[in-house]
Amino acid sequence: MAYLQFLGAAGTVTGSKHLINTRNDGGGKQGLQVLIDCGLFQGQKEWRVRNWEDTPIPAHEIDAVILTHAHLDHCGWIPRLVKEGFKGRIYATEPTIDLCSVILPDSGHLQEEEARFHNQKQSSKHKPALPLYTLQEAEDCLGLFTSVQFGQATRLSPELSFRFVHAGHILGSSMVELYLESAGKARKFLFTGDIGRVPLQASAPGRVVRSGPDADEDPEVLVMESTYGNRVHPHDDVRPHLAEIISATVQRGGSVVVPAFAVERTQKFLFLLKELMESGRIPRVPVFADSPMAIKAVEIFMKYADEFTDEARRLVEKYGSPLNWEGFHFAPKQEDSKKINEMRYPCIIVSSSGMVTGGRILHHLLLRLADPRNQVLFIGFQAPGTRGQIIKSGAKSVRIFSEEVPIRAQVAALEQFSDHADTEELLFWLRTFKRKPATTFLVHGEPEAASQLQETISSKLGWNVKIAHWLEKVPLG
Ligand SMILES: [Zn+2]
Repeated sequence: MAYLQFLGAAGTVTGSKHLINTRNDGGGKQGLQVLIDCGLFQGQKEWRVRNWEDTPIPAHEIDAVILTHAHLDHCGWIPRLVKEGFKGRIYATEPTIDLCSVILPDSGHLQEEEARFHNQKQSSKHKPALPLYTLQEAEDCLGLFTSVQFGQATRLSPELSFRFVHAGHILGSSMVELYLESAGKARKFLFTGDIGRVPLQASAPGRVVRSGPDADEDPEVLVMESTYGNRVHPHDDVRPHLAEIISATVQRGGSVVVPAFAVERTQKFLFLLKELMESGRIPRVPVFADSPMAIKAVEIFMKYADEFTDEARRLVEKYGSPLNWEGFHFAPKQEDSKKINEMRYPCIIVSSSGMVTGGRILHHLLLRLADPRNQVLFIGFQAPGTRGQIIKSGAKSVRIFSEEVPIRAQVAALEQFSDHADTEELLFWLRTFKRKPATTFLVHGEPEAASQLQETISSKLGWNVKIAHWLEKVPLG
């Protein structure tokens, strides 16, 4: 009997990996084995150790991967799967493949750096410490990617086919409609991946890429994310808040330092800054986008301008690519990055990593945290235990490069930038369904968020909702 098994993103928000096995009750290869997403476990060590475990079915017996989008918690384990012997195709939309070609090699590079660090410090029980995969291995797996257009039906076997529909989460992001046929009957399963913001009002200001998952779904089984199953984002326009923070900082002679993930979040922020500058709502100070990955991501974004919101498209039609905007500087090399340190006048620095766990943002904060004229502005989620979360929580100091740096700069956070639908938006989307799924499984959520969402959907919509457990098998008979 066919079954579905949750290999990740169960009880946590990372490591998304769901196995569909069309005809297998036990050992041995029969039928078709397909992974929906192949993500990296991130965060606490108890999760990360799972990156080193084998899949329950040997990698060389898995026939295909269907990838929803290019975030590492959904695609970051692909190079490891390939290293373990996977030889099938990896299906994704074209923008997702382009973004993966930047994100996966960067992830390989970070894995190598981490292994090098542990070997120097002798801080791993493994001698020598090895990377999960290397930059080269990440580049090598890109040849297995096959692009599939939104809405195009792709048949994997006589009984299994799929289609990508819009998830509205990040550039190229999709949900997977999977069709399983047996005895002349087709059954539909929907895997949401991450679900983007559902515009509850007519416009969603500040977005670069169109938002909103496709409506009118009718799957028999729904596998759905629950990241913000217990939270509602502020729904007001972020621009007045942002303009106020930047203007006040410049007025007191300080600079704004913005930790931001290099892909999507940085682009979104740059578009907002440009709009605010052109409309005269913030002063024209130099803007530095200090991340080599951010430049490549801008180039990819410009290739898919047809996915932009009307607002973002108008901005690009008028002013061209962000790479050529006057006063906007991109720092591809280390030397360019160091020059930013010499800036003694107010400026805006956008750099990664978004949670201040590493990367060039560390140098900028080391230099500017102690000056009360400066402003640190968070525009993304800060996971517990990260430096970002420590700074955001109002701590008096933070450790950077073995130095305890006093935090005298102003600290603010704008929560409107999230790329995940909140509870209200998820319910709004579920209400567009043409019929109730027989079962809904919640994945990709911390236990509290998942159980809160389970309760909300059951009580408000009367649906049968279950929380997925790690390695749990669900018969699809
Ligand atoms: Zn995502």
